[in-house]
Amino acid sequence: MALTVQKFGGTSVADADRIRAVADHVARARRQGDEVVVVVSAMGKSTDDLLRLACDVSAVRPGRELDMLLTAGERISMALLCMALAELGVPAASFTGSQAGIITDTVHQNAKIIEVRGDRLRAALRRGHVPVVAGFQGVSVEHDVTTLGRGGSDTTAVALAASLGADRCEIYTDVSGVFSADPRIVPDARKIKRISFEEMLEIAATGGRVLALRSVEFARNHHVPLHVRSSFTWEPGTWVDEEDPTMEQPIVSAVTSDATATKLTLTKVPDQPGIAASLFRALADEHVNVDMIVQNTSHDGTTDISFTTGKVDTPTATRVVEALADKIGAGTLSIDESIAQVSVIGAGMRTNPGVTATMFESLAAAGINIEMISTSPIRISCMVAADGAEQAVRALHEAFDLGEARP
Ligand code: ADP
Ligand code: ASP
Ligand code: MG
Repeated sequence: MALTVQKFGGTSVADADRIRAVADHVARARRQGDEVVVVVSAMGKSTDDLLRLACDVSAVRPGRELDMLLTAGERISMALLCMALAELGVPAASFTGSQAGIITDTVHQNAKIIEVRGDRLRAALRRGHVPVVAGFQGVSVEHDVTTLGRGGSDTTAVALAASLGADRCEIYTDVSGVFSADPRIVPDARKIKRISFEEMLEIAATGGRVLALRSVEFARNHHVPLHVRSSFTWEPGTWVDEEDPTMEQPIVSAVTSDATATKLTLTKVPDQPGIAASLFRALADEHVNVDMIVQNTSHDGTTDISFTTGKVDTPTATRVVEALADKIGAGTLSIDESIAQVSVIGAGMRTNPGVTATMFESLAAAGINIEMISTSPIRISCMVAADGAEQAVRALHEAFDLGEARP
């Protein structure tokens, strides 16, 4: 008997009909002889609604209390799904993250899983029940409720699949798989049948939110094959798995965009050893994640330094840089929130030169200016003005011939 973890995202459980459709699907998997563990997200956009409510109530939102609030969303879905399963005669039991034994660190809103105990889930399976687990949540080593970061139900599902030794982890969502670009931006984006963990990591890290980044890291580290598919059509989707060494890798598999960053530029930074180190040490000490960095050539012993950080980290980064600028005698700080990163990703670019040139040419032909550049062995990213990002994605998708109509 195979064990499958099935995760259903917010749109998949958005209303009563959707919850009944999910229950039917789980019941069908059981009839086919599979053991099933289900992970659910909060219904529809209810996590956003809860966040908005918290902002309306107070400007001060202690992390512990925010997590207590946000975890309520997934509790609603899990209880309703168990009721829908009960009506179909399928015995099911709901479990919060804490009851499922998902132990995390103490970082509220972005907790990391330290351990998955899962004893109660194993006992439920032995009794012939379907455990239905609230995604996105755990309990900290200090016994407080935590959440795993936005999109964290994917991470719950993969962590449970690894811990329970599941044969596969199915991620059901509102698109039929991982596409060569977000189908909402590129209507003729192509569904990818199989993609390596490495490429999927880059896609998830650069804005392809179909899978949460940490869930892909978990799947790669614990060798859990993922099947991303639609809960609307139930058709076969995309397998995310180890790279197949016998297959030639596509030069470019996907194009992504991400508008969650801000660019900060500090002018007239003294061009001396140790100054950049003190800037980025001060940012690191305040847990500010820095992505791209550009330092201009020096004029008169000073230089301009630009870097990007997440919009959520911008207030902290601003405070840190302004405090340091005074100390080191730098010039002024400017902040640009209207930027976006566009990326092309493909394992085959390791061995095929020319991808950068094609990318730059196609952005130039679309009249899009490149502000910053960063690369990995299988990715090239450019920072562009946010209002040109979607046009950039479509231009790159076309330039690399990724569309459905391709012969
Ligand atoms: P869920 O609520 O099921 O977790 P998400 O909204 O988190 O769903 O993720 C699914 C969405 O990801 C899709 O609706 C799609 O717009 C978006 N997306 C972005 N990039 C891609 C991509 N390359 N392939 C498929 N979907 C993508
Ligand atoms: N409900 C949470 C969110 O909206 C977790 C998830 O959907 O994966 O981020
Ligand atoms: Mg998601």
